[in-house]
Amino acid sequence: MAAPKVAVVGAGVIGLSTALCIAETCPSCSVTVLSDQFSPNTTSDVAAGILIPHTYPGTPIHVQKQWFKETFTYLFAISNSAEASEAGIHLVSGWQVFRNTPKEELPFWSDVVLGFRPMSEAELQKFPQHQFGQAFTTLKCDCPPYLLWLEKRLKASGVQMYTRKVADLWELHSEYNIVVNCTGIGAHQLVGDEKLFPVRGQVLKVHAPWVKNFIRDGDGLTYIYPGIHRVTLGGTRQKENWSLFPDPGTTKDIFDRCCSLEPSLRGAQDIKVKVGLRPSRHWVRLQREVLSQGGVKLLVVHNYGHGAGGFSVHMGTAKEAARLVGECIAALQGTSSRAKL
Ligand code: FAD
Repeated sequence: MAAPKVAVVGAGVIGLSTALCIAETCPSCSVTVLSDQFSPNTTSDVAAGILIPHTYPGTPIHVQKQWFKETFTYLFAISNSAEASEAGIHLVSGWQVFRNTPKEELPFWSDVVLGFRPMSEAELQKFPQHQFGQAFTTLKCDCPPYLLWLEKRLKASGVQMYTRKVADLWELHSEYNIVVNCTGIGAHQLVGDEKLFPVRGQVLKVHAPWVKNFIRDGDGLTYIYPGIHRVTLGGTRQKENWSLFPDPGTTKDIFDRCCSLEPSLRGAQDIKVKVGLRPSRHWVRLQREVLSQGGVKLLVVHNYGHGAGGFSVHMGTAKEAARLVGECIAALQGTSSRAKL
C-alpha cells in the first residue's frame, strides 16, 4: 500500500508529542496535525508544567509509573542538552508539605524523581503550619516554549499542521487512513464522551525571580512552581465548571494561600491570570477503535483524558499511541495484501 496517511487532531501537549512519536516511529507515514487552536491558545499553555504525577484511579499504577518514567527520561535528556532553554525545560528542587502525615509516605513516583527524601526538621521550620514534608528535584516545562519547540521538531520531520475544527471524525475518512484523537476536553463534544469532564483550573503567572524552589501543599490545591521567566501560583480544581473567565475573588484567594506558604511573594509583580479546563477522566482513554458506517471502516486511536497530569505523562502516552498506530498500519497492510490475492 502507499504511505499511510495519519491525521492527529489536537495541538496541545498530547497531540504534538503524539504526532512526533508517530513521525519518528513510522518515517514512511505522512503525518498531519489538524487543530482548531495552536499555542498559545490551548489548555496546555495554561498548565504549570511541573512533573509531579496526578493519579488516575482507573489506570494500573505500574502503567502510570511507566508513562511518568518515559516522560521524565525524555525531558531530563532535553534539560541536559543545549536545547534546554529554547525548549523551556529545567530541573527544579523543592518541597511537598503536608499538614498531617499522609497514609502513603512514599508515592509511586518517588524513585523516578531525583533525590526523594523526607524533609528535615530544619527545613520544616519554613512551614510552621505543616508537620511532614518531602524534598525532591523534578523537571518543569515552561509550557508555551515547549509547545513551540515540539511544533518546530514536527516541521523539521515533515509533519504538516493546519488550523481546522473537526466536527465529526468521519469527515477525515476520505483523506486519511488513520485518525488520532488528541482533542483533550474537546472530545466531550467530538466523540460524545460522557466520562470526560472539565476540572477548571485558575492560576497566576507572576514575576518573582527570587523564588527558586517549588512548594506544593500535599492536598494539591496550593502550589508555587518557578519557571524560567515566571512563577506559577495555583490553584483551583473545580469539577464540571466550564467557565474560562478568571474570577477576581479566586485570584485573591490563590495569592493569599501562596503567600502563606512563601511570604516573599507579597512582592511579586506583573500578575497575569489564566484559566484552563483539565480534560479529566478516571482513566486516560488510550485505545484503538474501529468505527463503522454502512460497511465503511475508519481506524481511530484515542489519546485524551489526561486531567491534571498531562505534562507528567505525555511522552509515555504518546509512545503508546504511536504503537497503537503501528498496529493499525499492520491491519491496513494485511487488508490491502489480502485484497490483492
Ligand atoms: P489541550 O491542551 O486542551 O489540547 C487539545 C487540542 O485539541 C487543542 O489544540 C484544541 O484546539 C484541539 N481540539 C479540541 N477539539 C477539537 C476539534 N473538534 N477539532 C480540532 N481541534 C480540536 N499537568 C501536569 O502534568 N503538570 C502541571 O503542573 C499541570 N498544571 C496544570 C495547571 C492548570 C491550571 C491546568 C488547567 C492544567 C494543568 N495540567 C498540568 C494538566 C495539563 O494541562 C493537561 O493534562 C494537558 O494540557 C492536556 O493536554 P491535551 O493536549 O490533551 O489538551
